Amino acid sequence: MAQIISEKEIKVQRDFLYKLKEYTANFCAENGRPPFAHTETYGCQQNENDTERIRGILEEAGYEFTDTADNAELVIYNTCAVRENAEQKVFGRIGILKHIKESRRDMTIALCGCMVQQEHITKKIREVHPQVDLIFGTHALYKLPELLYRTLTEKGAVVDIENSDGKIAEDIPVKRDSDSSAWVSVMYGCNNFCTYCIVPYVRGRERSREPEKIMDEVRALAKSGCTEISLLGQNVNSYGKDLDTDIDFAELLRMVNGIDGVERIRFMTSHPKDLSDRLIDAMAECGKVCRQLHLPFQAGSDKVLADMNRRYTKEQYLSKIEKIKARIPDISLSTDVIVGFPTETNEDFEETLDVLRRVRFDHIFSFIYSRREGTPAARMEFVLSDEQIHKNFNRLLEVQNEIAKQNNEKYVGKIEKVLVEGESKTDKAVLSGRTDTSKIVNFRGGYELIGKYVDVKITEAHTWSLNGELAEK
Ligand code: SF4
Repeated sequence: MAQIISEKEIKVQRDFLYKLKEYTANFCAENGRPPFAHTETYGCQQNENDTERIRGILEEAGYEFTDTADNAELVIYNTCAVRENAEQKVFGRIGILKHIKESRRDMTIALCGCMVQQEHITKKIREVHPQVDLIFGTHALYKLPELLYRTLTEKGAVVDIENSDGKIAEDIPVKRDSDSSAWVSVMYGCNNFCTYCIVPYVRGRERSREPEKIMDEVRALAKSGCTEISLLGQNVNSYGKDLDTDIDFAELLRMVNGIDGVERIRFMTSHPKDLSDRLIDAMAECGKVCRQLHLPFQAGSDKVLADMNRRYTKEQYLSKIEKIKARIPDISLSTDVIVGFPTETNEDFEETLDVLRRVRFDHIFSFIYSRREGTPAARMEFVLSDEQIHKNFNRLLEVQNEIAKQNNEKYVGKIEKVLVEGESKTDKAVLSGRTDTSKIVNFRGGYELIGKYVDVKITEAHTWSLNGELAEK
């Protein structure tokens, strides 16, 4: 059973939040404006969700937000440990901030998230980057009011990377990026220990939120006008195993499906070994659950899958995909793939391409293997050269891009219901939204449509997105 942060501990943090409010009010009186905060997030949706909580706490404390670090009194980088390049980016950023801080002594720099949950990284930051004032790990987020207040009022860096399996903190303020779509965490941590992955070491063991807490959060979101709910966890298929209840993830989906006001339900991530028939049935039978599934297969070779400790074979994965396609014929599938796992040969890689060709995913998140200190795979010898791994990676992209384009072409001429998310990233005159199969659709329309569902006729297919025009009523 997961440990819940006690009311007493939450009260301590509320008291510190009050002290922070006094601090920001004094700042405002002296400067004629509130202090500015800037946050940046690296990595996965769990981190995005954590940043929304950090921003919720800061907003309650009296901070306003700015898009750039240069003019901020407080900069927080919520870091990722899954790949080395995300860590390098953060080191680059704090290097740049060092120069800015030389002329801005009032700037506070904070790092949090998975990267700093690793002791060797925190040690390096403390030795090489004394400009960082506050470091807090994944389990200390709820203590931000206290940690920030101490950073602002005490001398020396404040560090909290408590090494525990983590507790669950409920009722933390949240400042969400969108009014129409929201992430809702259903569980935290992971028990799987895939040999390449650092997540179980930095996020702790699996712990599920009480179903009633999840339902309360979703009901409140629906009441506020939020219609799209994405249920989040490192392995949502394990939901409930640690709770004193019969409610599993399939049942939770059915419960959320019954909430008035919710129109779309998505979820991620699922582990193939835990994807049950009950869940496939719930997906097929719940009208609000989107026709979309993200099911990471990582590698096509049974030998590599065993070395990764994934606990399924290629055929077992493919047979689950067949079951899903039989039950939900128009389902959109996406996956994660790692190229260049240390023991992967060229023959193993061909098996990965075979899975792509047989499943025909709409979208893949593909990565070149990144060595993570402390994981079993970090001690394995590489079979392939760097050059060969990059060649294989490019081939993988070629094969997948062709499949994605062909899949998208099937949408041309159809009318799709699209939830409008905002302006397109590349053209401010164009709106962008998603179908329930999570296809990005760009079309012309007024800003008043943002947050609403509209019918769009698809006119053009690209590899990553669709173009369309508003369908006539
Ligand atoms: S299932 Fe494997 S890859 Fe996913 S978070 Fe857990 S250990 Fe990492």
